[in-house]
Amino acid sequence: ATRIDPAIAPAASEVISQLQGRHLIGNALVPSVGGATLDVVDPATAQLIGKAPAATGDDVARAVAAASAAFPGWAATPARQRGKLIAAAARAIADHSDVIATVLALETGKAIRTECRGEVATAIDIVTMYAGLASELKGETLPFDPQILTYTSREPLGVVAAILPWNVPLVLMMLKIAPALVAGNTVVVKASEEAPYATIEMARLMAKLLPDGVLNVICGTGRDCGAALVEHPAVAKVTFTGSQAVGELIYQMAAKKIIPVSLELGGKSPMIVYPDADMARVVAGAIAGMRFTRQGQSCTAASRIYVHTKLIDAFVAALREAVSKLKIGDPLDEATDIGTVISQRQKAKVESYIDLGARTVGAKVDRCGELPGAAHLKDGLFLQPTIITGVPEDSPLMREEIFGPVVCVQPWDDEDDVIARANDSDFGLAATVWTNDLRSALRTVQRLDAGYVQVNQNLTIQPNLSYGGFRKSGLGKEASLEAMLEHFTKKKTVVIDMR
Ligand code: NAD
Repeated sequence: ATRIDPAIAPAASEVISQLQGRHLIGNALVPSVGGATLDVVDPATAQLIGKAPAATGDDVARAVAAASAAFPGWAATPARQRGKLIAAAARAIADHSDVIATVLALETGKAIRTECRGEVATAIDIVTMYAGLASELKGETLPFDPQILTYTSREPLGVVAAILPWNVPLVLMMLKIAPALVAGNTVVVKASEEAPYATIEMARLMAKLLPDGVLNVICGTGRDCGAALVEHPAVAKVTFTGSQAVGELIYQMAAKKIIPVSLELGGKSPMIVYPDADMARVVAGAIAGMRFTRQGQSCTAASRIYVHTKLIDAFVAALREAVSKLKIGDPLDEATDIGTVISQRQKAKVESYIDLGARTVGAKVDRCGELPGAAHLKDGLFLQPTIITGVPEDSPLMREEIFGPVVCVQPWDDEDDVIARANDSDFGLAATVWTNDLRSALRTVQRLDAGYVQVNQNLTIQPNLSYGGFRKSGLGKEASLEAMLEHFTKKKTVVIDMR
């Protein structure tokens, strides 16, 4: 089987070879000061794809210096002009979307058809929306005193650091850089060291149309590159998506500098299924919500499904049947529904949770679907979608984020009790309710303590809907106009005596 569409294979290989060991600083592709690199591996074949640059403090300093030098000119550019340049950048990305999607599939192991093309399209949607919001960077006039003019203005913060994970790097990058840039900030992105190339390529296409230094991307380890970036004195704001543990560290580092931070962290999102729910919709919603096509590597993964006792057996059987039909295989094959997880470390972590399920008295672990048999995939990091039933509510399987294709299904028969169980979590990112009864839906939505609550559907992030978790799922919102105004500008109050 051909692994890359022959029409775009040379272009994708060319992109990867150009980016070998290179950061994007001041509109140029440059190696690390010390020349250090990290291996980037294709998770489907275990073959080395190439090298990512490994930044140290010197590279961080160079990137922040480029962004700092570009800031006064970019901040002074009229907002609508910034919006027009960003809109042009969105079109440049769209012209290369197939190549970017292919690079993303190669480095992440995510299936090109079910995941990577959609991710590029969503990233373009996000940047296009923010480009059009440039004229919304408005202030207010305040009724203070007729003799005194009082108004507020929105001003950019300065150099923004955007730190990314590997699971949906392009969408998460765009949720950060598009509002930051439109608002007049300059940006240094820290790409994930496990999936750097599609991120750097997408940013490179945008940066070509912007003044030098407005958008920079560096790559390296969390400690040497990410922490050095957060601690850099000229970084005025940090926006981070990743694990709760690293989020806590970043919050502490930012506290020492007293700079604002936005954190999008983990989740353990519940689905509550009422006895009147439409079974076909619930099964489709569970598959979409669990992001099985992304091997469950989703912060909003609907990983705790509470199904009314009347429906639970039928639901588990129907879910099993539907999930088993998903084809696990080569991410670059158009027929593939599910690709790989990102790394050996991640695979081992997910397997340890599955083992815990197998060792739990009374629990049933059901691995669904078939692993691929092709010779070139024999070392690939594939996992089967796994349904676990019968675990205690306080099991780590129910409480910790697994970030893999593992879902726990639990019965309920008392509404107060199931809502309490759904809310009893460190996380509060997303939740869904499945019923055709309006009163049950509204009652439950009102009582669920999560940032993104849906009824009878499991949509992912939408560009214009404010998105962000409660409790340990994070701080602040992404997407929407509100995110740009609240998190990428500072508000100045001006009071002018006219007498
Ligand atoms: P991670 O926290 O290990 O790494 C994220 C990024 O932080 C990487 O670029 C990493 O190099 C960097 N980093 C690591 N240590 C650092 C430090 N000390 N200082 C600064 N930067 C550091 O997360 P991951 O494994 O790449 O991604 C998976 C996690 O991301 C999951 O927990 C998932 O829930 C979360 N996530 C959340 C959302 C959301 O919107 N809430 C979306 C996607 C992923």
